[in-house]
Amino acid sequence: MARCVKDESTVWTAGDTPSVCEDSSARIFGPVLSRRLGRSLGVDVVPPKTCTYDCIYCESGPTTRLTAERFSPYSIAAILEELEYHLAMISPPPEVITLSGSGEPTLNRDIGKLIQRIQQLAALPVAVITNGSLLNFENVRNTLIHADLVLPSLDAATAEVFSRINRPHPSLRLDQIVAGLEEFRREFAGQMWLEILLVAGINDSTQEVEALQEVIARLGPERVQVNTVDRPPSIPSAGPVSEARLTEIAEYFGKAAEVISCFDSATVSNRSSEHLAKTIAEMVRRRPCTERQVSEALGVELAAISRLLESMIGHGQVGRKYHQGKYFYFIGPGDEMME
Ligand code: SF4
Repeated sequence: MARCVKDESTVWTAGDTPSVCEDSSARIFGPVLSRRLGRSLGVDVVPPKTCTYDCIYCESGPTTRLTAERFSPYSIAAILEELEYHLAMISPPPEVITLSGSGEPTLNRDIGKLIQRIQQLAALPVAVITNGSLLNFENVRNTLIHADLVLPSLDAATAEVFSRINRPHPSLRLDQIVAGLEEFRREFAGQMWLEILLVAGINDSTQEVEALQEVIARLGPERVQVNTVDRPPSIPSAGPVSEARLTEIAEYFGKAAEVISCFDSATVSNRSSEHLAKTIAEMVRRRPCTERQVSEALGVELAAISRLLESMIGHGQVGRKYHQGKYFYFIGPGDEMME
């Protein structure tokens, strides 16, 4: 596979910007039943695992390319071609196209152009899931302004907790990130849904929650989505917060706050097993999942997913690992993640 970067464990600095990578590996995944967005077709716009953070709870494993330098990893034409192909195959169509994946999407410096081209291609809303770390840069805000929905995350309101939970690139400062979120909020006409991910013993103290409450009151997002760890985290000790505490914390954040809960899914998809197997492979390549998580995300009966996963194991297409009382299916780094 063509390489987009210099090595597997690099902290990039200014001037280290890699060139366009014409790697044709799949960048489109799903549609999945996203807990936050409904039936969403995902577009992965940076190579795994390229991020401005190395969050202790990350479901995609440790960040191997920690950078705050934006770059052009893929050709827009290639992404659009791949997207058009998937849209033609999928019935019923997705409800939203989401730019996210296994890294920070605003690191892709072509993301603004991409959002606009996708809007021309498909009459569907375009959402961007971002950690918000680059929103203090005007050029980044200007690119996201075209999206219909932006879902930034903010897990901490104090520098110490920010550094413990998100382990950011050394050039990033929390006060500047919060200022960027506030500026973007003023400029952006679409919806902003803020996600707060809580890790037990790290950012769930009353002191931190009250500090977050102040920032949220200034931001005034349409929704505040309170979440916790529910898949194998990058750092095994990053544990979930209890449901009761999540509910209690959500109350601090006002009427816009909700605790994200799992989908209750019983819909059977009409996709072929081959297409489904491909979708599952793309899904577990990004983050290990249990059978139930695959079933809920794809809206396919659990029994059908179990049979398909067994067959994929038999063909060596996915691996399976026992972790904290559950079996997780994975491809690639999922193995290391659960050691
Ligand atoms: S959780 Fe998101 S922001 Fe954090 S390291 Fe993973 S991809 Fe990056």
